[in-house]
Amino acid sequence: MILQMIRAKRRQVLIDINTQRDFLLADGEACIRNHRRVLAHIRRMTAWARHRGIPIISTCEVHPDEETHNGDPRYCIDGTPGQKKISYTLMENRIVFPADGNTDLPRDMLRRYQQVVLHKRCPDPFDEPRIDRLLSEITAAEFVLIGACAETAVKAAALGLLQRNKRVAVIVDAVGYHDNREAKMAFRKMEAKGARLIETRRLAGASHLRQVGVCHCEACQRTAQRVVVGVPQDN
Ligand SMILES: [Zn+2]
Repeated sequence: MILQMIRAKRRQVLIDINTQRDFLLADGEACIRNHRRVLAHIRRMTAWARHRGIPIISTCEVHPDEETHNGDPRYCIDGTPGQKKISYTLMENRIVFPADGNTDLPRDMLRRYQQVVLHKRCPDPFDEPRIDRLLSEITAAEFVLIGACAETAVKAAALGLLQRNKRVAVIVDAVGYHDNREAKMAFRKMEAKGARLIETRRLAGASHLRQVGVCHCEACQRTAQRVVVGVPQDN
Protein backbone atom coordinates (compact mmCIF):
# COMPACT_ATOMS: atom_id res chain seq x y z
CA MET A 1 0.00 0.00 0.00
CA ILE A 2 1.16 3.44 -0.68
CA LEU A 3 -0.02 4.40 2.78
CA GLN A 4 3.39 3.19 3.82
CA MET A 5 5.07 5.68 1.55
CA ILE A 6 4.76 8.30 4.16
CA ARG A 7 4.50 7.61 7.83
CA ALA A 8 2.03 9.64 9.81
CA LYS A 9 4.88 11.16 11.77
CA ARG A 10 6.46 12.45 8.63
CA ARG A 11 6.51 16.20 8.68
CA GLN A 12 5.63 18.01 5.54
CA VAL A 13 5.12 17.23 1.89
CA LEU A 14 5.60 19.99 -0.65
CA ILE A 15 2.81 20.22 -3.22
CA ASP A 16 4.27 22.02 -6.19
CA ILE A 17 1.49 23.11 -8.56
CA ASN A 18 1.91 24.14 -12.21
CA THR A 19 5.39 25.59 -11.79
CA GLN A 20 5.70 25.58 -15.55
CA ARG A 21 7.24 28.07 -17.94
CA ASP A 22 3.92 29.22 -19.42
CA PHE A 23 2.70 30.30 -15.98
CA LEU A 24 5.88 31.71 -14.49
CA LEU A 25 7.94 33.34 -17.21
CA ALA A 26 7.27 36.77 -18.71
CA ASP A 27 7.01 35.31 -22.21
CA GLY A 28 4.81 32.40 -21.12
CA GLU A 29 1.34 31.97 -22.58
CA ALA A 30 -0.42 32.51 -19.25
CA CYS A 31 2.12 34.38 -17.12
CA ILE A 32 0.97 35.27 -13.63
CA ARG A 33 1.21 38.74 -12.14
CA ASN A 34 4.35 39.63 -10.24
CA HIS A 35 6.13 36.56 -11.56
CA ARG A 36 9.58 37.73 -10.43
CA ARG A 37 8.69 37.78 -6.76
CA VAL A 38 6.74 34.52 -6.93
CA LEU A 39 9.56 32.78 -8.82
CA ALA A 40 12.07 33.80 -6.17
CA HIS A 41 9.87 32.33 -3.44
CA ILE A 42 9.18 29.17 -5.43
CA ARG A 43 12.90 28.71 -5.87
CA ARG A 44 13.42 29.24 -2.17
CA MET A 45 10.75 26.73 -1.24
CA THR A 46 12.04 24.03 -3.58
CA ALA A 47 15.56 24.55 -2.20
CA TRP A 48 14.09 24.18 1.29
CA ALA A 49 12.49 20.86 0.36
CA ARG A 50 15.61 19.63 -1.42
CA HIS A 51 17.91 20.35 1.51
CA ARG A 52 15.62 18.83 4.09
CA GLY A 53 14.72 15.78 2.05
CA ILE A 54 11.06 16.75 2.07
CA PRO A 55 9.08 14.82 -0.56
CA ILE A 56 7.77 16.89 -3.44
CA ILE A 57 4.58 16.08 -5.31
CA SER A 58 4.47 18.15 -8.48
CA THR A 59 1.42 18.47 -10.68
CA CYS A 60 1.73 19.97 -14.17
CA GLU A 61 -0.89 20.81 -16.71
CA VAL A 62 -0.66 19.39 -20.18
CA HIS A 63 -3.12 20.20 -22.96
CA PRO A 64 -3.41 18.62 -26.38
CA ASP A 65 -1.97 20.28 -29.42
CA GLU A 66 -4.96 20.19 -31.72
CA GLU A 67 -5.86 22.19 -34.76
CA THR A 68 -9.44 22.51 -33.64
CA HIS A 69 -9.39 23.07 -29.94
CA ASN A 70 -12.82 22.98 -28.41
CA GLY A 71 -12.18 25.45 -25.67
CA ASP A 72 -8.98 23.69 -24.61
CA PRO A 73 -6.54 26.10 -22.99
CA ARG A 74 -3.85 27.48 -25.27
CA TYR A 75 -1.09 27.18 -22.70
CA CYS A 76 0.97 24.24 -21.43
CA ILE A 77 0.52 22.58 -24.80
CA ASP A 78 2.00 19.12 -25.03
CA GLY A 79 5.48 19.21 -26.58
CA THR A 80 6.04 22.97 -26.24
CA PRO A 81 8.74 24.60 -24.10
CA GLY A 82 5.99 26.45 -22.19
CA GLN A 83 4.67 23.16 -20.84
CA LYS A 84 8.02 22.33 -19.21
CA LYS A 85 8.65 22.82 -15.53
CA ILE A 86 10.98 25.58 -14.36
CA SER A 87 14.40 23.92 -14.16
CA TYR A 88 15.02 24.48 -10.47
CA THR A 89 11.72 22.89 -9.50
CA LEU A 90 12.99 19.54 -10.78
CA MET A 91 14.86 17.16 -8.49
CA GLU A 92 17.33 14.72 -9.92
CA ASN A 93 15.74 11.80 -8.17
CA ARG A 94 12.22 11.86 -9.59
CA ILE A 95 9.55 9.73 -11.20
CA VAL A 96 7.16 11.09 -13.81
CA PHE A 97 3.61 9.96 -14.64
CA PRO A 98 1.54 10.85 -17.70
CA ALA A 99 -2.12 11.84 -17.44
CA ASP A 100 -3.57 8.56 -18.64
CA GLY A 101 -6.45 7.78 -16.34
CA ASN A 102 -4.61 4.94 -14.59
CA THR A 103 -4.26 4.83 -10.84
CA ASP A 104 -1.24 2.57 -10.41
CA LEU A 105 1.58 3.83 -8.23
CA PRO A 106 4.82 2.00 -7.40
CA ARG A 107 5.30 0.70 -3.92
CA ASP A 108 7.42 2.81 -1.59
CA MET A 109 7.47 5.52 -4.20
CA LEU A 110 8.25 8.42 -1.91
CA ARG A 111 10.99 6.49 -0.20
CA ARG A 112 12.70 5.84 -3.50
CA TYR A 113 12.17 9.19 -5.17
CA GLN A 114 12.35 12.70 -3.76
CA GLN A 115 9.93 14.00 -6.36
CA VAL A 116 6.84 12.63 -8.05
CA VAL A 117 5.76 14.57 -11.13
CA LEU A 118 2.19 13.94 -12.28
CA HIS A 119 0.57 15.39 -15.36
CA LYS A 120 -3.05 16.52 -15.42
CA ARG A 121 -5.39 17.65 -18.16
CA CYS A 122 -7.25 20.13 -15.97
CA PRO A 123 -6.55 22.56 -13.12
CA ASP A 124 -8.13 20.41 -10.39
CA PRO A 125 -5.68 17.62 -9.45
CA PHE A 126 -8.52 15.52 -8.05
CA ASP A 127 -10.02 15.21 -11.53
CA GLU A 128 -7.08 12.97 -12.44
CA PRO A 129 -7.58 9.47 -11.00
CA ARG A 130 -3.92 8.81 -10.21
CA ILE A 131 -3.38 12.15 -8.47
CA ASP A 132 -6.67 11.74 -6.62
CA ARG A 133 -5.52 8.38 -5.35
CA LEU A 134 -2.08 9.60 -4.33
CA LEU A 135 -3.30 12.73 -2.53
CA SER A 136 -6.15 10.85 -0.87
CA GLU A 137 -4.05 7.97 0.47
CA ILE A 138 -0.93 9.82 1.51
CA THR A 139 -0.52 10.92 5.11
CA ALA A 140 1.71 13.68 6.39
CA ALA A 141 1.67 16.23 9.17
CA GLU A 142 1.09 19.00 6.67
CA PHE A 143 0.79 19.62 2.94
CA VAL A 144 2.63 22.76 1.89
CA LEU A 145 1.32 24.34 -1.31
CA ILE A 146 3.15 26.53 -3.80
CA GLY A 147 2.64 27.35 -7.48
CA ALA A 148 -0.06 28.71 -9.76
CA CYS A 149 -2.76 29.84 -9.87
CA ALA A 150 -4.34 30.85 -6.58
CA GLU A 151 -7.79 31.20 -8.07
CA THR A 152 -7.77 27.86 -9.93
CA ALA A 153 -5.38 24.95 -9.46
CA VAL A 154 -3.99 25.95 -6.05
CA LYS A 155 -7.46 26.54 -4.66
CA ALA A 156 -8.70 23.21 -6.03
CA ALA A 157 -5.73 21.36 -4.52
CA ALA A 158 -6.13 23.06 -1.13
CA LEU A 159 -9.87 22.51 -0.88
CA GLY A 160 -9.60 18.89 -2.05
CA LEU A 161 -6.93 18.12 0.55
CA LEU A 162 -8.92 19.85 3.30
CA GLN A 163 -12.02 17.88 2.33
CA ARG A 164 -9.94 14.74 2.84
CA ASN A 165 -9.05 15.92 6.34
CA LYS A 166 -5.45 16.83 5.53
CA ARG A 167 -3.65 19.75 7.09
CA VAL A 168 -2.78 22.38 4.53
CA ALA A 169 -0.43 25.36 4.54
CA VAL A 170 -0.49 27.72 1.57
CA ILE A 171 2.67 29.72 0.99
CA VAL A 172 0.95 32.90 -0.15
CA ASP A 173 4.06 34.62 -1.51
CA ALA A 174 5.00 31.52 -3.51
CA VAL A 175 1.60 31.35 -5.18
CA GLY A 176 0.89 33.27 -8.38
CA TYR A 177 -2.39 34.56 -9.74
CA HIS A 178 -3.87 36.33 -12.71
CA ASP A 179 -6.71 38.19 -11.05
CA ASN A 180 -5.98 39.99 -7.81
CA ARG A 181 -9.60 40.11 -6.62
CA GLU A 182 -10.32 36.47 -7.38
CA ALA A 183 -7.05 35.44 -5.77
CA LYS A 184 -7.97 37.26 -2.57
CA MET A 185 -11.31 35.49 -2.50
CA ALA A 186 -9.59 32.17 -3.12
CA PHE A 187 -7.14 32.69 -0.26
CA ARG A 188 -10.01 33.70 2.02
CA LYS A 189 -11.92 30.56 1.12
CA MET A 190 -8.90 28.29 1.67
CA GLU A 191 -8.35 29.90 5.07
CA ALA A 192 -12.03 29.62 6.00
CA LYS A 193 -11.88 25.90 5.22
CA GLY A 194 -8.89 25.45 7.50
CA ALA A 195 -5.73 26.18 5.52
CA ARG A 196 -2.88 28.01 7.20
CA LEU A 197 -1.76 30.99 5.11
CA ILE A 198 1.92 31.69 5.66
CA GLU A 199 4.89 33.26 3.92
CA THR A 200 8.03 31.60 2.58
CA ARG A 201 10.25 32.97 5.35
CA ARG A 202 8.13 31.24 8.00
CA LEU A 203 9.29 27.84 6.76
CA ALA A 204 12.40 28.50 4.76
CA GLY A 205 13.79 31.31 6.90
CA ALA A 206 14.71 34.83 5.92
CA SER A 207 16.25 34.71 2.51
CA HIS A 208 18.76 36.67 0.56
CA LEU A 209 17.52 34.86 -2.47
CA ARG A 210 16.90 37.43 -5.15
CA GLN A 211 18.07 35.60 -8.21
CA VAL A 212 15.22 34.00 -10.04
CA GLY A 213 17.15 32.78 -13.06
CA VAL A 214 15.38 31.28 -16.07
CA CYS A 215 13.29 34.35 -16.96
CA HIS A 216 14.91 36.78 -19.34
CA CYS A 217 12.54 39.72 -18.90
CA GLU A 218 13.99 43.05 -17.89
CA ALA A 219 12.75 42.93 -14.30
CA CYS A 220 14.22 39.49 -13.65
CA GLN A 221 17.52 40.38 -15.30
CA ARG A 222 17.83 43.55 -13.25
CA THR A 223 17.43 41.52 -10.09
CA ALA A 224 19.99 38.98 -11.22
CA GLN A 225 22.56 41.71 -11.74
CA ARG A 226 22.09 42.97 -8.21
CA VAL A 227 22.87 39.49 -6.96
CA VAL A 228 26.37 39.53 -8.44
CA VAL A 229 27.51 41.93 -5.73
CA GLY A 230 25.15 40.52 -3.12
CA VAL A 231 25.09 37.56 -0.79
CA PRO A 232 25.83 34.12 -2.26
CA GLN A 233 22.81 32.02 -3.09
CA ASP A 234 21.82 28.87 -1.36
CA ASN A 235 22.75 26.49 -4.14
ZN1 LIG B 1 10.79 37.81 -15.67
